[in-house]
Formats: sequence, C-alpha cells, structure tokens
Amino acid sequence: MNKCYNCGTELNDQNKTREHIPAKNLFAGYSEYYKKNLLTVPACRKCNEEFSKTDQQVRDAIGIMNEDDKKKDEATRKSVKSILRQPRGLERLHLDENDRVIGVDFSNEDMETHHIKNFKGLFFAEYGYPIGDDYEIKVIHEGDANNERFMKIAGEMTAYVTKEGEWKSSGHQDIFQYNIKSLEIGEGGIIRNGTDLKNAIGVVAVMKYHNELSPVVMAFKKEFVALVSRQSN
Ligand SMILES: [Zn+2]
Repeated sequence: MNKCYNCGTELNDQNKTREHIPAKNLFAGYSEYYKKNLLTVPACRKCNEEFSKTDQQVRDAIGIMNEDDKKKDEATRKSVKSILRQPRGLERLHLDENDRVIGVDFSNEDMETHHIKNFKGLFFAEYGYPIGDDYEIKVIHEGDANNERFMKIAGEMTAYVTKEGEWKSSGHQDIFQYNIKSLEIGEGGIIRNGTDLKNAIGVVAVMKYHNELSPVVMAFKKEFVALVSRQSN
C-alpha cells in the first residue's frame, strides 16, 4: 500500500521517503553489521522530518544510560555533547561525586511521541496499512515507574506479547527488540492474538531499546473504549 505509515497520506514520487524503525541514530558507533535487517516503512517527507528532535532525545537518554559498555561509547559521547549544546543542558544532567554523568532528565512527552512513532511503524510493517484514528493510543514507559497500576498492566501486556520468549528484532537484538500482537476477546473472555483486526479490541506492542528502555504501547479501538466506559458508569 502506497501510504505514509504515520499520517496515511497517499505517496507519490514527490513526497515518498522511507523511515527506519527505529531511527538510525540509535546505532551510532555500531558497525554496519548491526544495521542489517533494519525495518523500514514508507513515509511522507513531512512525517520523516518531524521526528528528528524526539529521535535525538531518546538516543541521548540511551547514550547516558551506558554502564561501561564499550560499544556504546560513541553514542554516549554524542549524547553528552548534544545535551550540553541544548539550553540549560547542564542542569538536566545528574553527576556523581567524581563528576561522572549518571543520569539525565527527559521530557516524558518527547519519549511518548517517539514510542508512538515506532509503534505506528511496527503496526504498518505487521498489518500492511497505517493505523487509523479509530484507535486511542496509550503509552506506559519509564516516566510511569511509580504508578503501580500502570506497571501491573505493562507487566501483563509484556508477558502476553512475549509469551515463550517471542522477541523479534529490527537491525540487531542489542539495539531494538519488539513484538506486536492484537487483543481479542475470545470465548471465556480470553485475550488472544488474531490475524485480522476486524474482531480485535486493540493492538499492543512492547519495544526494548538497547536492553534499557522497554515501553509498552497499547492502541484500543475507540468503540471498545466507549463501551467499557459506559459499562463502568
Ligand atoms: Zn505522513
């Protein structure tokens, strides 16, 4: 299908590009070997350019989380430099007593934007068309770590999509792993994975970046969300 994975615009020779899922900057310092089998989806030029800022934010976060992994040194160096170039960059860094960078503050909004973008890319790659606006998308990520209820849902969803250790990878498993499955109510209320989304209540994906960040993205059909909220009233 010749449509943008993100906004659904029809693509032609003028506006057609390819977007990498995940963005190539996550591979900074890694050899070409790690970029083999990197997933790409069709994207319009506008959407392709729109995410460069948030892609960089996430690369910076992952670079900073490097705990003495030599392969990530290049990403770490770029990340620290990039953060320091930004307004009040220094204030966002957390240092230990030896002035070593041990953490950095990030905008939850940028993180969410980034994870939703990759989710939409995975959705397109899996089902062959862009996700429509009949879905409501919700992300559970690091910023929600103190919310017990969210963490419980994230744990259950991760267990569901990675049952029996089913992880797929894009590029290389050290950089990005994921799995995406639909949610369907079967007999006895059992959640199950369907091949066609006609009877699905939604789609859920778990992503794992550099074995550090692992957001859960859930997209529920709006008609299902409306039904549930009517029932709980
Ligand atoms: Zn687009």
